[in-house]
Amino acid sequence: MSSKLAVVAGGGGFIGGHLVGDLLSQGYRVRSVDKKPMSEWYQVHDGAENIIADLMDLANCYKACAQADHVYQLAADMGGMGFIETHKAECMLSVLINTHMLMAAKDTGIERYFYSSSACVYNGDKQVSEDVVALKEEDAYPAMPEDGYGWEKLFSERMCTHFREDYGLETRMARFHNVYGPDGTWEGGREKAPAAMCRKVIEATLSGDHNIEIWGDGLQTRSFMYIDDCLIGVQKFLHGDCIDPLNLGSDELVTINQLLDIVEDIAGIKLDRRYNLDAPKGVNGRNSDNTLISETFGWAPSIRLREGMEKTYNWILEEHNKKYHGTVPRRGAAPKGAHVLKKEREAAAT
Ligand code: NAD
Repeated sequence: MSSKLAVVAGGGGFIGGHLVGDLLSQGYRVRSVDKKPMSEWYQVHDGAENIIADLMDLANCYKACAQADHVYQLAADMGGMGFIETHKAECMLSVLINTHMLMAAKDTGIERYFYSSSACVYNGDKQVSEDVVALKEEDAYPAMPEDGYGWEKLFSERMCTHFREDYGLETRMARFHNVYGPDGTWEGGREKAPAAMCRKVIEATLSGDHNIEIWGDGLQTRSFMYIDDCLIGVQKFLHGDCIDPLNLGSDELVTINQLLDIVEDIAGIKLDRRYNLDAPKGVNGRNSDNTLISETFGWAPSIRLREGMEKTYNWILEEHNKKYHGTVPRRGAAPKGAHVLKKEREAAAT
């Protein structure tokens, strides 16, 4: 058990909510900070000190870091491809959070500072083919990251490095590759592919309209890391000695079509696929090279996609039913017709 105080910036978000729970279970005192109203936090842990504050504001960052030992900086304006390709300025403004949190952490004597970077820092030229060579850490340079979101992440990585070199703040960084799991965004425009896929399959199942829209041609390749692996990795990075940003991702590569195969299998349905080639789809191929993380920590993410997706699907199904049906229907209960579902969605949206 530890009496140290850990700050989770972005604690109302998907990964932050899980991290707060993980730290509490390890015996840390936890301060969870997020700008969203608490009703929109994915998880509110009673055992934590929960604070609503905008961490773009320097004064709020000082309050967040006061008397703390560790900082986990996860706060960012972000989402799936549908969000980051259309909100580049908003994504880049997260630099204010990262700048001010680093300044406050330095001045308040934070012992260890974890920064959540992203696979979006990697050079786009290395991701043009579906037939990918997994991304090694060195592939971030020469720099040509995802425009907007990726540039901000790469710049903030460098700030973390220089705050360590110049001020002695012990920064640690991981490049997350597509994290998924329960208690995250599954609708509304910021959701990522695994959650969006689950929701679309659920909607098709419940409405009886057995068509599904896929963004892109379905051949683009990705790897997806289940949240439990992410949490283990974050602890290894924070407590470890590695000062360079390393990949934290799964290397189980699938096409988007194969991801849908998995969700269809879980749901017990086959859908007609319609490919929207005009929709945002991101790079053609991306995978995590796990050589360095394995060498450094003797560990790498290993939870199989099928296992993680089953848990994620079941959680989204439950949330969907709670939101649009007011109850969790019995297994095998007759699904509602499309017109009823549409009316309920409209009512829920008002
Ligand atoms: P999320 O959107 O669920 O959580 C981010 C949280 O930050 C949100 O709750 C949001 O309200 C909060 N936030 C945004 N601006 C803020 C501000 N000014 N002040 C205080 N709080 C603010 O995202 P997530 O999936 O939990 O991601 C956490 C971190 O991991 C982010 O930095 C993200 O860029 C990074 N990351 C995530 C993934 C992934 O697949 N989920 C992949 C790569 C990197």
